[in-house]
Amino acid sequence: MPLTPAQVGELRALLGESGVLVSEPARFTYEADALTVERHPPDAIVLPRSTDQVCAVVRWARTHGLPVTARGAGTGLAGGATCEQGGLSLSLNRMDQVLSVDEARQFAWVQPGVVNLALSKHTQPLALHFAPDPASQQVSTLGGNAATNAGGPHCLKHGVMVNHVLALTVVLEDGVAVRLGGEACDSPASDLMSAVVGSEGTTAIVTELCLRLTPDAEAVQTLLLDYASIAQACDTVSQVIAAGIVPAAMEIMDRHTVGMVEAWLGLGLPTDAAAVLLLEVDGPAVALPGQVERIRAIAAAQSVRSVRVAKDAAERLALWKGRKSAFGAYGRAHKGFTIMDGVVPRTRLAEALERLYAMAAAHGLEAGNVFHAGDGNLHPHVMFDPSDARAQAAALEVSHDILRMCIAMGGTISGEHGVGIEKRPMMAELFTPDDLAVMERVRAAFDPDRRLNPGKVLPGGGGCGEVHSRGSYERVAAMALRPDVEGPWI
Ligand SMILES: Cc1cc2nc3c(=O)[nH]c(=O)nc-3n(C[C@H](O)[C@H](O)[C@H](O)COP(=O)(O)OP(=O)(O)OC[C@H]3O[C@@H](n4cnc5c(N)ncnc54)[C@H](O)[C@@H]3O)c2cc1C
Repeated sequence: MPLTPAQVGELRALLGESGVLVSEPARFTYEADALTVERHPPDAIVLPRSTDQVCAVVRWARTHGLPVTARGAGTGLAGGATCEQGGLSLSLNRMDQVLSVDEARQFAWVQPGVVNLALSKHTQPLALHFAPDPASQQVSTLGGNAATNAGGPHCLKHGVMVNHVLALTVVLEDGVAVRLGGEACDSPASDLMSAVVGSEGTTAIVTELCLRLTPDAEAVQTLLLDYASIAQACDTVSQVIAAGIVPAAMEIMDRHTVGMVEAWLGLGLPTDAAAVLLLEVDGPAVALPGQVERIRAIAAAQSVRSVRVAKDAAERLALWKGRKSAFGAYGRAHKGFTIMDGVVPRTRLAEALERLYAMAAAHGLEAGNVFHAGDGNLHPHVMFDPSDARAQAAALEVSHDILRMCIAMGGTISGEHGVGIEKRPMMAELFTPDDLAVMERVRAAFDPDRRLNPGKVLPGGGGCGEVHSRGSYERVAAMALRPDVEGPWI
């Protein structure tokens, strides 16, 4: 419900005229994230510029009994930033400054609206970068990355967001700002940061982050391996790790994905391959040739058809651009599709893929895959015609079943995208009532009145499966490839 003129006036007194948006077009713009089948316009959008302003807005919302949903770039794929219960959409985009960089101690303080890739560009002259690299890194914000505990191709070796957050400034539901964690390696206090990182904005609003920076590797080798069978690609992945090699990244794209990416970007990918494995090793220059030879031998035992080694930085960036544009390539090529984010043990990838392709085929649907193979983190896309209600329902059913299969195989329902609205009902299939009850109690300790992103994550309604249909695909495509943003893509 739109705010009253008096309420708008009060908010503008706190944030200035341009800090509050209430027009229909604005509310329409903020009614969804990348899960565009869930649309709930906020009552108003507020755009603070400082922690103090966030505190003031949260206190104001408390007085008026309104929910507050933090929002970064809105690239979330699970409906996390959607204002399901109305209230304020609190956009952190104007808080977009890198506050300081400590080169010697290798960390940076940033505001939450800094775009992921912008931090690495900022620290590039120091030969430092920010390791977690979601494929949305040209657009998504570090605040959103922390709130979803985002992953990315290079998180295999370097760890996901939670491994890179040293400290946070957060605003609690009563409008008080507190500092969690610290610049030092260890903190004598309880690790309350863990209750915020990955909480999808349900425990606190992040207004500053202290993030670990990673030195650039001395040398990097990027390989594209091409297989006649996706099972051989998967087996290469688990055997490389079993051999004691930890590559910086191991990503698989199946035939469907390769075809779409190649049709879009023309990178010279082998479109007749059943799957390609993009594998990168980094470290001391002296160590890499030996590792590459061992990987070649493992791949040869899996009947690899060809191994393309990027000859220079430009070719490496092109290969990564292809991988990181894959979601967008689906958006370009298909009117409707679901995206799952299930995880299975790495050793069972081949079996999981075989089963999920069969599940889709049994409903007359096609599935495609692009995924963080090293982490066992699948991203099955199930394509459907959005004008066909039966096909959409079938795609959702298949998507449900894929996540159930992941649970049954000893995996989980989200490797990185979060739960938001769409995976919320699946939580009860993964966790026991006691597990969920303790999560609810932790949340209540932070937010007793459930005003911070209310209703999200823990079960209580909603659908299942991240569904993208006509109208949404352009958004996903635009998020995946912004022509105005240059690399490094890695
Ligand atoms: C093309 C594409 C590729 C993607 N690839 C990946 C990938 O490789 N890995 C991956 O992990 N994800 C990926 N995603 C999903 C998405 O980009 C991530 O979840 C990302 O971390 C969301 O960041 P955001 O700034 O867009 O946050 P939003 O979508 O705006 O918000 C996400 C959640 O975080 C909360 N939130 C946002 N900011 C704050 C804050 N300051 N304080 C508290 N809570 C906050 C929101 O309330 C919401 O619950 C991809 C998405 C797209 C469209």
